[in-house]
Amino acid sequence: MKNLRSFLSTLFLMSISLTVFSQISYERIPLEKMEAAFEQYKEPAITHRRFKHADLQPLIQKHSGAFQVEQLGESIEGKSISSMKWGEGKTKVMLWSQMHGNESTATMALFDLFNFLEGKNDGFDELRALFNAELNLKFIPMINPDGADAFKRRNSLDIDLNRDAISQISPEAVILKSARDDFEPEFGFNLHDQQIYYNVVNTPKQATISLLAPAYNYETEINEVRERAMKTISGMNELLQQIIPGGVGKYDDAFEPRAFGDNIQKWGTSTILIESGGYPDDPEKQVIRKINFVIILNALHQIATRGYEQYTTEQYFSIPDNGLQLVDLKINEMLVEVNGKKYPIDLVIRRRESEANGSYFVSGSIDDLGDMQVYFGFEEIDATGLEYVEGKVYPTAFGSINDLSEEKALELLRQGFMAVKVDNGSARELHGLPIQVLKSTEKLSGGWTTSLAPNFFLGKEGKLNYAVINGYLIDLENPKPQLFKNRIL
Ligand SMILES: [Zn+2]
Repeated sequence: MKNLRSFLSTLFLMSISLTVFSQISYERIPLEKMEAAFEQYKEPAITHRRFKHADLQPLIQKHSGAFQVEQLGESIEGKSISSMKWGEGKTKVMLWSQMHGNESTATMALFDLFNFLEGKNDGFDELRALFNAELNLKFIPMINPDGADAFKRRNSLDIDLNRDAISQISPEAVILKSARDDFEPEFGFNLHDQQIYYNVVNTPKQATISLLAPAYNYETEINEVRERAMKTISGMNELLQQIIPGGVGKYDDAFEPRAFGDNIQKWGTSTILIESGGYPDDPEKQVIRKINFVIILNALHQIATRGYEQYTTEQYFSIPDNGLQLVDLKINEMLVEVNGKKYPIDLVIRRRESEANGSYFVSGSIDDLGDMQVYFGFEEIDATGLEYVEGKVYPTAFGSINDLSEEKALELLRQGFMAVKVDNGSARELHGLPIQVLKSTEKLSGGWTTSLAPNFFLGKEGKLNYAVINGYLIDLENPKPQLFKNRIL
């Protein structure tokens, strides 16, 4: 009886001290303050998402006083991969970005964060002192410089670095693995971009940010390491719901035995995946750059104060899953004729980017057709009663692309021509005209099935209402201003 009572009072005291411990004054930094910090410290040398390895080198040098910069090694093409360390605390946190070369959003935010960490006399000195005392930060921006310079996912061996965590075929993978093993961080941030077509499942909301505490085994079990990541994510999501309500998805947690995130979790670092998706009217991802800055700053604060302990794994699991249900254009109930009979079909079209000469063009494709009710279009039209009409090639060649204007192109479209030929100019050259331009071919491919390019008209009784050119929708009566990223075929 006496033993039981003393046992109970010990339990009671323990629970008090635990309560006190878990309340080491974590209060989230107000969102407005973090947003103001972003505006003040945003790195002005980076203005779009296609910056190169060479653009970052002077910026890394700029920080070599406040940060401990170390060259970890070189990519296949001999480009340096550096780490930057900051802080004297005992909680080690490693953040790495752009292992997929065309996923650059978080890299931009890291350079904004470097400026912030170097700032002073701005009302954030107390926060910096806390970070400095509690955290030991190691950043590796741009793990895949060769991929970044070509703005493509894979490295120069055409290997996906996120499938090379174990085999270590690529020097870039060796560098990342060694950095983790040498540093042994308690927390890790694996920073990526996802396709803009990801949504919050079964909603038209774009998944602007998706989060994941990657699994470390096929059973997707939860140990202490993964649980810490989940709790931190719960806190990040709470903040994100203020910025992009309903715009956060939970990334698929199927275990991938070759991926870095999954293995770094397995090796004992609480790992958080941040995937930057799309946001309306933000093609260069500058809004999402700011969101990255804010959530990373907030997460570091949660880690420095152990504030993540306030959150639960249930909150993590309540984040809705990612879906892949967004398309650029959805056409509902268009009539197509086969063997003399007309069928109403929905059509979903995506326009995927390809890098070209430091810029990009898009290639429209019909991804599916039939009953497309599970998809959501950034743009949707009801084509009830409208029929598919094939486009023609204008018979006389133009001298060059300079002999055409947007007005002229629209005039030709209204007459049923969806392509023009040019005598001069090179195939693959980029242009912004709302019509297909042909150089290497006389014929324009187009159609409404999944194997054909989305080039056609929508009309009724001889009148044309819409043109679909390379997957772009053009209202022929009321054309809206839009940016066309086409190229000469
Ligand atoms: Zn990625």
